Amino acid sequence: MSNRLKGKIALVTAAGQGIGRAIAEVFIAEGAKVIATDVATDKLDGLKAAKAARLDVLSSGAVDDFAVSIGKEFGALNVLANVAGYVHQGTVLECAEKDWDFSFDLNVKSMHRTIKAFLPAMLKNGGGSIINMSSGVSSIKGLPNRYAYGATKAAVIGLTKAVAADFITKGIRCNAICPGTIVSPSFEERVQAVAKQTGTPLEQVRKNFIARQPMARLGTAEEVAALAVFLASDESSYITGQPHLVDGGMAL
Ligand code: NAD
Repeated sequence: MSNRLKGKIALVTAAGQGIGRAIAEVFIAEGAKVIATDVATDKLDGLKAAKAARLDVLSSGAVDDFAVSIGKEFGALNVLANVAGYVHQGTVLECAEKDWDFSFDLNVKSMHRTIKAFLPAMLKNGGGSIINMSSGVSSIKGLPNRYAYGATKAAVIGLTKAVAADFITKGIRCNAICPGTIVSPSFEERVQAVAKQTGTPLEQVRKNFIARQPMARLGTAEEVAALAVFLASDESSYITGQPHLVDGGMAL
C-alpha cells in the first residue's frame, strides 16, 4: 500500500535509529511530511524528511521553542510519535535515585513535554493522532532486571489513557505501542553490556533474549513501524486510549 498518510504532517522523536527511524521511513513512504528529530542529528542523515532537526526531549525549553517554530513552518501536526526512551537494566537494588529520575525524565516526562507543546495547535486544527512508545514490559508484563524501565513504560500507558480520555471529543486519539524484544542499536548494546557484566558469552546472552520471545525470534523495527502507520492513519479512526502489543506473543 502507499499514501496511507498522504497529506499528514508527522513529527517523530528519536528518529535517528531503531524503531524511531523505521517509523520515520515508513511514514515518509506512506506520503506523510515527516519532521524527523533526534538529539543526535548525524543519525538523521539519509532520511527523506520534510525537516530533520535536533530535538532533545529532555529539555522543556527546546521542545516549547521547537513547537513554535514548527507551527510557523508547517502549521499543526496531524501525528505526533513519541519514541524516545531508554532501558535501565537492573532490579530495585541496582536502581539509584538518579537512574529512576533519568528513566522517568526520558521515557515519560518527555511525552508530557511534547504533548503539552504540540497539542494546542492540534486541537485548534480539529484533531490528530498521538502515538506513545511503551513496551510489553510495563503494566502488561514484568521481566527480570527491568525495574525502572517497566515502571516508566507502565506510566506511559497511564499517560496515554489520560490524554485519550481528556480529548476524546476533540478529535484527538492517543494510543501506546508495546513492542516485545526488537533488534535495534541499543538492543545490541544491551546484549554486550549483559555479556560483560555477567561474564556470559555474547551468543548465549543473545539466545537468552530470544528465549523471552515465544516465536523464537526477535522482532524488527519495521514490524513495530507497521503498527505505527495504522495508528497514525485514518484506518484506526475508532481506536484510542489503548496499549497495542507487537510482541511476538511475549505477553501470552
Ligand atoms: P534505540 O534505543 O536504539 O535509539 C534511541 C534513539 O533515541 C537514538 O537515536 C538516540 O539518539 C535517541 N535519543 C536518546 N536520547 C534522546 C533525547 N534526549 N532526545 C531525543 N532523542 C534521544 O532505539 P530502540 O531500541 O528502537 O527504542 C526506541 C523506543 O522503543 C524506546 O522508547 C524503547 O524503550 C522502545 N522499545 C524498544 C524495544 C526494543 O527491544 N528495542 C522494546 C520495547 C520498547
